Amino acid sequence: MDFRTEVRTWLRSHLPDVPDPRTWERELGQAGWIGIGWPGDDGETYGNRRATLGEQVIWAEEYARSKAPARMGHIGENLLAPTLITYGTEEQKRRHLPPVARGEALWCQGYSEPGAGSDLAGIRTTATPDGTGAYAVTGQKIWTSLAQDADFCFVLARTDPRSTRHHGLSFLLLDMDQPGRIEVRPIRQLTGTSEFNEVFFDGARATETVGGEGNGWRVAMGLLALERGVSTLAQQIGFAEELDRVVAAAVASGAAEDPVIRARLVRQWAELDTMRRHALRTLGTTGDPGAPSVAKLLWGGWHQRLGELAVQVAGEAGAAGPEPWTARRPYELTPAQHLFLFSRADTIYGGSDEIQRNIIAERVLGLPREPR
Ligand SMILES: Cc1cc2nc3c(=O)[nH]c(=O)nc-3n(C[C@H](O)[C@H](O)[C@H](O)COP(=O)(O)OP(=O)(O)OC[C@H]3O[C@@H](n4cnc5c(N)ncnc54)[C@H](O)[C@@H]3O)c2cc1C
Repeated sequence: MDFRTEVRTWLRSHLPDVPDPRTWERELGQAGWIGIGWPGDDGETYGNRRATLGEQVIWAEEYARSKAPARMGHIGENLLAPTLITYGTEEQKRRHLPPVARGEALWCQGYSEPGAGSDLAGIRTTATPDGTGAYAVTGQKIWTSLAQDADFCFVLARTDPRSTRHHGLSFLLLDMDQPGRIEVRPIRQLTGTSEFNEVFFDGARATETVGGEGNGWRVAMGLLALERGVSTLAQQIGFAEELDRVVAAAVASGAAEDPVIRARLVRQWAELDTMRRHALRTLGTTGDPGAPSVAKLLWGGWHQRLGELAVQVAGEAGAAGPEPWTARRPYELTPAQHLFLFSRADTIYGGSDEIQRNIIAERVLGLPREPR
């Protein structure tokens, strides 16, 4: 059986009974579908399969095409794991990667703070050596996606109290199960649901750094390049599915006969094609300082415009909800409304559009640095 057939067969037989998101992660892990491309020593792998780049693309394509659920283990698999593979010690890779590959360990990302979002170097959370080789972490993080479910968190914190800006920061790993030392407060959104959180650390114990004490900025920036770039390839295929649905809705509602809507749909298609080529061209490349920012700028705006189109082509149904909103219950959204509202965040998370433009201006075009 070729690889694509194997993927399709597995997804087809498992998708009808997708359990809760956490169990789904374990099912994926048990079947060897997490960390499929991770390397290892002597033919071994820290994850599963040692799939080629082409096979990884096939898995991502088929997963998106099958309309399988969004992955709860995304942060561990696609952000933490490549970071550990690049900057971690052998011992750290052996300890942390297999539980992620089994779908057992869920991670969250503790970067942003009130006052340190775009300006990440303004981080004030501190990590003080506690005399046992570990650190006591104190401070507040915000917008921490999935922290309410995560088992572990990677945290950017200041280990040198006299340092400023991007100096003296460390990339720390900590266990989220520390009652009394870690408090997670979900942030209730306009929709009534809570995807992200405030996280308060009060002397939380972090046992290790990645990349060594004081090198956190380098590691954190390496991880952000992954968040903005290569890991978005699978997303493109999901985008193509979403665009297909918007086109079908436009045909069904008659909106496709409007020349302005037609032109906008065609533009979305052409831009998606460009994005896919950019993602493929830069797949696996490093050292191109503009590529991740270009990718982020392209897809963030594209997805927002698709969300706008999705509600527009639905006509009146795009504005009205199937359920009346009440203060007690989450707002019931149609898929088009969901796309519209949630895509507002696409130009913010992983670094806002303005920040991507600043990176391209300074590192690619050589324009003068922004005044501080
Ligand atoms: C859905 C979602 C999930 C997220 N998940 C996580 C997570 O899991 N972990 C985590 O750590 N963070 C997460 N974030 C936080 C995200 O990284 C920050 O929101 C983002 O970096 C922007 O920071 P901020 O919200 O503090 O806005 P600010 O930095 O206050 O920016 C406000 C506005 O000012 C603009 N601006 C700021 N500085 C400049 C400048 N120098 N030049 C021009 N314009 C500028 C920005 O572009 C923005 O429009 C998430 C955010 C969202 C929306």
